[in-house]
Amino acid sequence: MAGIKIKMTDSCDAVERELDKVLQKFGCVSEHFNRTIDKQIEFIKALKQQFEEVSDEYELTPNQASILCDAVSQVRETVSRAATDHRDLHSSVSKVGKAIDRNFNPDFGAITRDGLFSGERAKILTQVVCQHLYRQGMLDIGDGLCKEAGLELDGTYKEPFVELHRILEALKQQDLTPALDWSADNRDALIAQGSSLEFKLHRLAFLNLVKKGRWYQSAAITYARQNFSQFVKRHEREVQTLMGCLLYVPAGMEGSPYAHLFDNGLWDDIQDTFTRDACARLGLSVDSPLAVCFSAGCTALPALLNICQVMQARQVSSIWNGKDELPIEIDLGKEFHYHSVFACPILRQQASESNPPMRLMCGHVISRDALHKLASGNKLKCPYCPGEQNPNEARLITF
Ligand SMILES: [Zn+2]
Repeated sequence: MAGIKIKMTDSCDAVERELDKVLQKFGCVSEHFNRTIDKQIEFIKALKQQFEEVSDEYELTPNQASILCDAVSQVRETVSRAATDHRDLHSSVSKVGKAIDRNFNPDFGAITRDGLFSGERAKILTQVVCQHLYRQGMLDIGDGLCKEAGLELDGTYKEPFVELHRILEALKQQDLTPALDWSADNRDALIAQGSSLEFKLHRLAFLNLVKKGRWYQSAAITYARQNFSQFVKRHEREVQTLMGCLLYVPAGMEGSPYAHLFDNGLWDDIQDTFTRDACARLGLSVDSPLAVCFSAGCTALPALLNICQVMQARQVSSIWNGKDELPIEIDLGKEFHYHSVFACPILRQQASESNPPMRLMCGHVISRDALHKLASGNKLKCPYCPGEQNPNEARLITF
């Protein structure tokens, strides 16, 4: 992996070097032109003014005529130089494109398979793309794609995203009402999943009143009385803090120990909290499946391309054909870990439905195929401890 990373960084550096050259050229050209063009504009403006001041019958002296001719030819020269510089810039820009082609492998053919997205899978792919568009709030584009692809998704498919998006947009405008309504409707389920969304929304509504100053102090107290009692059990300390900040209303919050409650951090946080908790409530993942696949692919692609090159060079590329698994294990990092997996320590394979993990009587776990291989009749000797046992007593376990 380290080798691949170094190669990637080298490639990026090479492209960046070309990019720096372009930027430097752009800088020089624009600086030069800003200077000359400003000067010329000023000069021509002055000439124009002089023209306006004299009468229509005025005849230019030879000296004035030659100044005018010079000015015109200078402008022409500047324009033609601008055109030349522009052409030069273009060649530098295209060098960046060439550097990208040279340093990165544009051919992903080796790591895809024909027919991967045909038939039923094509439909699923379109559905995933649509879901992503709906999630991003691009409802019209999602609808358009459905129509063009002949995909019929029923209303229930789109609805949750429409609502999520509407509420999120309101939160971005610091409007809490839609989110408060939604969380009151879903109160029991939110509490069951351990969410503090509703409390956080009420806290912001309360702080909004406090922020308005002393004339809203009694409104803030009324709001607290009406809404905070249900949260005292779960958020006792936070409610105490909120009540404490009321003391500073007359003097102003700035410089008070509660000033941190009024920065925009809580507003950023509420959008994340809402997205996370609402997605959990609706049984959706926080990131769209397409976004997750895309970033997993970006991480995995360099390693896969590299191993493919090695396999082709050693003429063993055929061993990857027709298998639904990758030729190497790729660690995508913690954020891509969703559930535990079990790899059999004997067969060195990931457990599957057809070969599930089995717990032996001694507590050690191996896969069922390994268990069958190690057992002889009614006897099995655990490969990890001297415990001898009956293989039929092993229990299937589920992660
Ligand atoms: Zn054992």
